[in-house]
Amino acid sequence: MGLPEILGTAGTLEVDLDALAANWHLLAARAGTADCAAVVKADGYGLGGLEVARRLQAEGCRWFFVAHLEEAVALRTVVPDHPVFALNGTVPGIERSFVEHDVVPVLNDLSQIERWNALARQLGRRLPAAIHLDTGMNRLGLSRGEIERLARQPELLDATVVRLWISHLACSEIADSRMNQEQRQRFDAALAVLPRAPASLANSSGIFLDPGYRYHVVRAGAALYGINPLPGQLNPMAGVVRLSGKILQIHDVDTNQAVGYGAAWRAAGPSRIATVAIGYADGYLRALSNRGIVAIAGKRVPVVGRVSMDLITIDVTEIGDVPLVPGDVVELIGPTIPVDEVATAADTIGYEILTQLGRRYHRRYQGAVA
Ligand SMILES: *Cc1c(COP(=O)(O)O)cnc(C)c1O
Repeated sequence: MGLPEILGTAGTLEVDLDALAANWHLLAARAGTADCAAVVKADGYGLGGLEVARRLQAEGCRWFFVAHLEEAVALRTVVPDHPVFALNGTVPGIERSFVEHDVVPVLNDLSQIERWNALARQLGRRLPAAIHLDTGMNRLGLSRGEIERLARQPELLDATVVRLWISHLACSEIADSRMNQEQRQRFDAALAVLPRAPASLANSSGIFLDPGYRYHVVRAGAALYGINPLPGQLNPMAGVVRLSGKILQIHDVDTNQAVGYGAAWRAAGPSRIATVAIGYADGYLRALSNRGIVAIAGKRVPVVGRVSMDLITIDVTEIGDVPLVPGDVVELIGPTIPVDEVATAADTIGYEILTQLGRRYHRRYQGAVA
């Protein structure tokens, strides 16, 4: 249920597609001769997969990845001419739906490959697929033994057009992790014995490793949406999301008075508390109770007390000369409070903050493509 376009108390989620486009161009430039694919799974990391894909397509993006077949089918309506890959691959019985909807599965084991080829032979034509090679993550992809078998029996792929060999890095945000080199070596060893096709290893952070990780296609998700691909360093990406909520009420509380459920915060001295109309039902995680920081007119103020379903309380005692009234806007994510900071306060990662963003916002897109 989207919100009706009326003036109310609900929060606003602004998605800056111009910033998204700038991020894609930065990553594409960084990828050098490799193509920069867009990973738009989970509704474009919560920002609106169709709006994101439309804009990136207009910018020149030619490869799109989602997790599920269902997501790919939805994406097909706005990406009719470029391949849409479903990373989760197939399970027995759904193969025909990929063909019907012109979605390319990422096949993750030999039995998936066998069934895909069987279907292709039945249909009397070769079918496109990407194939995921496990290089150490043990999550998805052909095992080492399966890779060896495929190398010995390339006829297993007789009815398949391999569009892409992929693998996925487990530790790409840690530039000096040994795991990166090990995975790259295993990927190279596999590619050397398998039929020739374009290859893809790097996710967002992988694009910032040395050029040897780029291959033919890089797969950017998080960094497109403004999440820092270089944790601990200056974020090279532009912020894409601005989340704001409205102040409903302002309370003056005395020393030792409690705020919110469980009386989990008490005033150390006379304080001003503002109640803001955003809560965990909007994806503002309950873990941010007594830990989150928000901003008013660029000034940082703390979340105090527990995050409730529809509300948070913030301590505006120190806000000084900014006069506050109900209806004033509080930044929860944006230029003053980057998504990565919210994530750290909640003891999680920016990916989870974005993908948990609720459906209860007025959504505004800057730079949308019709
Ligand atoms: C989600 C995902 C990506 C994108 O990763 P980011 O870190 O968001 O850039 C790339 N490849 C695979 C296989 C993924 O699952």
